Amino acid sequence: MAAAEPGRLELALEDVDLAEAEELWTDDDAADHAGWFCVATDPFPCPAPGCAFVAEFMTAAHLILVWEERDDPNLLRHAARAKQVGRNPRVVDYEPSFGPSASYYAWEAAGRPVHAVRGS
Ligand SMILES: [Zn+2]
Repeated sequence: MAAAEPGRLELALEDVDLAEAEELWTDDDAADHAGWFCVATDPFPCPAPGCAFVAEFMTAAHLILVWEERDDPNLLRHAARAKQVGRNPRVVDYEPSFGPSASYYAWEAAGRPVHAVRGS
């Protein structure tokens, strides 16, 4: 295999639009979460500035958070918090047609990434 061409690589990186360079986190272990549970909520816009994504489930970085057990204490805690802010949470069976999912535990292990809400 030929050696990499450092000069070309640098050029390629400079071509990247910085606004597009930020990648949303994905659950690398994205197994089929069918049969897991997620929390449907009233539509809730992504808190990242300028993002048009509207979540209809409890999400992180646009991925639907799923739990293996519907009485998982973390699920109940997040649902309770959503209720407090008027998001009308309902625990439902997750179906892949809802959209991409991420295991709550993988998300937590990854440091709870969210879509670019910049701290002040
Ligand atoms: Zn977003």
